[in-house]
Amino acid sequence: MEKKMTITYVIQDKLYVNITNKCPCNCTFCIRNNGDGAYGSDSLWLEHEPSFDEIMADVNTHNISDYKEIIFCGYGEPTCRLDILVDTAKAMKEKEGCPPIRLNTNGLSDLINNKNTSEVLGSIFDIISISLNAGTKEEYMKVTRPRFENAFEAMQKFASDCVKTDAKVIMTVVDVISKEQIESASEVCNSTGAEFRVRKYDC
Ligand code: SF4
Repeated sequence: MEKKMTITYVIQDKLYVNITNKCPCNCTFCIRNNGDGAYGSDSLWLEHEPSFDEIMADVNTHNISDYKEIIFCGYGEPTCRLDILVDTAKAMKEKEGCPPIRLNTNGLSDLINNKNTSEVLGSIFDIISISLNAGTKEEYMKVTRPRFENAFEAMQKFASDCVKTDAKVIMTVVDVISKEQIESASEVCNSTGAEFRVRKYDC
């Protein structure tokens, strides 16, 4: 019998959706390096990249109006599957009582998909949370180890573009980086118009 994949998982009152294990980064702090799950979930390594039908079948095992928020996150970068991401988020929004939907992203969607993606994402997601991770390009490249040379600049441009949409845009750093990096990160964030947030080590 095929092993059940963890496409959705619950942390407190939020429903998380794990649609891909693909990612163009290799962050030093990535939770994928620390085990198989997140906050007690089953393994988030997917046996295969789930189809729209598989994702929705899993989502439909929940009454989504019971949750405070739906978050596309998991063990990979959701925008690596842009079409599936957009289609599943849209299908959820059409459900009665759908709570706000958030995208947790590394902000590299435009580079991954080779086009501007802020408009489509901003028209669907209520919140777009971008991992800024560092205050300087040098530190960012060291920490996130992206496969794109211009990742730091592209991530900021993506954030500025998302700010022009209806979505609330947040840029985050984790609380384990230095005070100086947090200050420079806050300046970088301000230049995009996004809201700055220092968060606890999270997924
Ligand atoms: S962007 Fe996210 S999924 Fe990708 S390596 Fe970094 S922390 Fe992990």
